[in-house]
Amino acid sequence: MSDKTFDVVVVGSCMTDLVSQAPRLPKAGETIRGHKFFIGFGGKGANQCIQAARLGVKTAMICKVGKDFFGDNYIQNFKDNDVHTDFVWQTSDAATGAASITVNDAGENAIVIVAGANMRLGEEELQQALTAIRKAKVLVCQLEISSQTSLRALQMAHDNKVRTIFNPAPAVPDLDFGFYRVSDVFCCNESEAELLTGYSVNNVEDAHHAAQELLRRGCTAVIITLGPQGCVVLKAQDKTSTHVPSTAVKAVDTTGAGDSFIGALAFYLAHHPDMPLEEMARRANQVAAVSVQAVGTQTSFPFKRDLPADLF
Ligand code: ADP
Repeated sequence: MSDKTFDVVVVGSCMTDLVSQAPRLPKAGETIRGHKFFIGFGGKGANQCIQAARLGVKTAMICKVGKDFFGDNYIQNFKDNDVHTDFVWQTSDAATGAASITVNDAGENAIVIVAGANMRLGEEELQQALTAIRKAKVLVCQLEISSQTSLRALQMAHDNKVRTIFNPAPAVPDLDFGFYRVSDVFCCNESEAELLTGYSVNNVEDAHHAAQELLRRGCTAVIITLGPQGCVVLKAQDKTSTHVPSTAVKAVDTTGAGDSFIGALAFYLAHHPDMPLEEMARRANQVAAVSVQAVGTQTSFPFKRDLPADLF
């Protein structure tokens, strides 16, 4: 067992994206010719971990992949990004999580996600990684693995006074209220906020209301990201939330913007623990704004060397 310490520990998913571009989406039973194919690294957990690592903190990923080509490939991807892999398990019982994506010329897509090995991460692995969880500065979880495993990891971190970021994505309408109580920062986007609260969230004003409702459920702070509008931040000790605008940029591909934001937030929480949350959010907006100016998910996430020194 590893007794190394890490700034940011992520308990979450790895997905291999298999992307085919074709003139149109095939009908049932039909085979059509596409014009381009590529493989990308994805999964919200891995994305967030890799963004934090690229900004320069020590990170470890706790996850499960298949004992297959995609699993081996993903482990190499973590190593290439300086993410510690002692807690990346491989199983023969399921394949590495995969998303088969077809994109037509109009930019519409059809996606099949198979969580596979991601759903096999459980209590046993969390126990093996307990020392790393206990000693982390920040622990980050999402909902692309078993929700029981996510909640358990957040509880372990919370019980050990490790700061937690919970990203309830993909959102479920009946989220266990236990998640709110163990979240230091509960961070979601507009559509997730809408599903969780039942309020419609279309603008900054709506986000202020939704943030109040989420905070009432027991977390210490709420951030709702708003695409090009930046985000809204609400802390338990404050009565009103703050809108933190983003920088205006020419977006070419916003896939993974939320993961870039959360990875950056984890970096700031670990690296500058006493910085006001609004300032962390302002800087995370800037990191994510860089990511939307390049194509792809992890391929668009900036490294420390790509960013201005005043963000560090
Ligand atoms: P998600 O990817 O989960 O849908 P958002 O779309 O809310 O999340 O984006 C997350 C963050 O990325 C935003 O808070 C903002 O900082 C940044 N961002 C997203 N889209 C843009 C954009 N068009 N211009 C500038 N920043 C953006």
